Amino acid sequence: MSHPTVENVVIIGTGCAGLTAAIYTGRANLSPLVLEGPLPGGQLTTTSEVENFPGFPEGVDGFQLMDNLRRQATKFGTRFEQALVDKVDFSVMPRKLIAGDRVILAKTVIIATGASPRMTGVPGEKELYGGKGVTTCATCDGAFYRKMDVAVIGGGDSAAEEALFLTRFASKVYLVHRRDSLRASKIMADRAVAHPKIQCVWDSVPVSVEGVKEGSVSGLKIKHVKTGAESVLPVKGIFVAIGHVPNTGPFATALDVDEGGYFKPAHGSHIQTKVPGVYVAGDCADHVYRQAITAAGMGCAAAIEAERWLAGHEAG
Ligand code: NAP
Repeated sequence: MSHPTVENVVIIGTGCAGLTAAIYTGRANLSPLVLEGPLPGGQLTTTSEVENFPGFPEGVDGFQLMDNLRRQATKFGTRFEQALVDKVDFSVMPRKLIAGDRVILAKTVIIATGASPRMTGVPGEKELYGGKGVTTCATCDGAFYRKMDVAVIGGGDSAAEEALFLTRFASKVYLVHRRDSLRASKIMADRAVAHPKIQCVWDSVPVSVEGVKEGSVSGLKIKHVKTGAESVLPVKGIFVAIGHVPNTGPFATALDVDEGGYFKPAHGSHIQTKVPGVYVAGDCADHVYRQAITAAGMGCAAAIEAERWLAGHEAG
């Protein structure tokens, strides 16, 4: 009877954290196995220009950056496989990862599963999501809204960035925010507010997405939070940019998570969990900084810890 392979390191996720962990563990000759989920390359592949990743004074395309990281990881012996982990058993050694009917055994695990877009949950949003006018990715879908009016919901850097990107195509971009000032960094907020194609709609929350019967978005019904007055913005596209939810579900009973669902690392560390040899990195464990560079830093730290753990427990 053949024994299933026991991996030295399994990295779950292919965003900045996962791929950086792969580069480091690969370079340490650990032959990491990276499990790829539904969004290869992670959130940066849905962004346009990344202006703040150190080392790129002219900025870098998000997709290109992730492709570079992937090629760098491959160069050092990383293997990639598609698998969506839905259950784990961290009470046994080697650790057990279950993806459908597949079981993967690992001495160390680095969880870098990132976060997914948060949705508003208003009526019509779900029905008209994906190809029918509601989306979370201006880079992917912006070009479909040439010479049309669109709305972006949110007030953070993502919302400002999406709104600015959409001005390349749309006639008008409504930026709908529930307060009267943007949470976005000053540089992004100033650019958005000053842009002639962007109209900020302050103190307003979405009520419903119009157009369900017709099968495509015909408007966004909003409510002014101070007056209670409702109105409909006549838009064909709605870009939801109200933050993210960490992808920690399959691990939430085996590891500690906080009230927002983010991993809560142990031992005063930012990457170690209560399970020896199991580490977390990137947006699934960081609700404070949430930057590509901090995710990469966590991936690097997790890789070094995994390497040390293996060295202390007979690396195979
Ligand atoms: P975020 O900073 O958490 O902002 C979420 C926005 O959505 C906030 O303005 C929030 O309103 C609003 N919101 C949340 N729930 C809502 C709801 N149910 N209904 C209506 N509005 C709601 O998220 P983010 O913009 O995705 O940014 C995440 C992180 O990535 C941040 O650290 C950001 O700096 C970073 N980022 C950086 C860049 C860049 O540097 N170029 C680009 C994108 C993202 P309130 O303001 O009232 O809370």
